[in-house]
Amino acid sequence: MAHTLPALPYAFDALEPHIDAKTMEIHSQKHHKAYVDNLNNALKDHAELAAHDIVSLLRNIKSVPEAIRPAVINNGGGHHNHSLFWEIMAPNAGGEPTGAIGDAIKATFGDFTKFKDTVKQNALTQFGSGWSWLVWDPTASAIKTIKKPNQDSPLMDGHVPLLGCDIWEHAYYLKYQNLRAGYVDAWWNVVNWKKVDELYQTAKAGK
Ligand code: MN
Repeated sequence: MAHTLPALPYAFDALEPHIDAKTMEIHSQKHHKAYVDNLNNALKDHAELAAHDIVSLLRNIKSVPEAIRPAVINNGGGHHNHSLFWEIMAPNAGGEPTGAIGDAIKATFGDFTKFKDTVKQNALTQFGSGWSWLVWDPTASAIKTIKKPNQDSPLMDGHVPLLGCDIWEHAYYLKYQNLRAGYVDAWWNVVNWKKVDELYQTAKAGK
């Protein structure tokens, strides 16, 4: 089964002024597409992996042959991270989370401001490229914030990613240049909490 580039669930300019249309276009149509193409290329001689979807490949990364494992970590991770990223953003979004995820954030971090501070701190202290994440940890039965380098997927650690802020320069450089903090501050205005709540409830139910 070939992996495919998902269509963006909104127009390139839908997240303006927080994320500019040109960044969205290049990010999805060039960067994300390259991860998908490179993943398919890495898998092309491995028919035994053809039945695995991207989540299964990453969760079971240790069973991927060593010769192609780095390519699957980088490009499969990039594919899944970005597929999630488009979904957890939306126009006319942002604000404070409500529902089950809103309750879990308050219970875990004290309040929404403290939660945002930890996500931002993780974003700003990730040296080079990577992601600042909110994940579900099934072992601890809890949500937690983490940062990971490159395109390393939280799925490889047994975590379920719920919310991710892409802090590669390609995610923000056209509009924010070197000001990663300004990008992270603006990004909260496009977070699709309804989707994050769905992901949280599905993860918590163990599905
Ligand atoms: Mn990216």
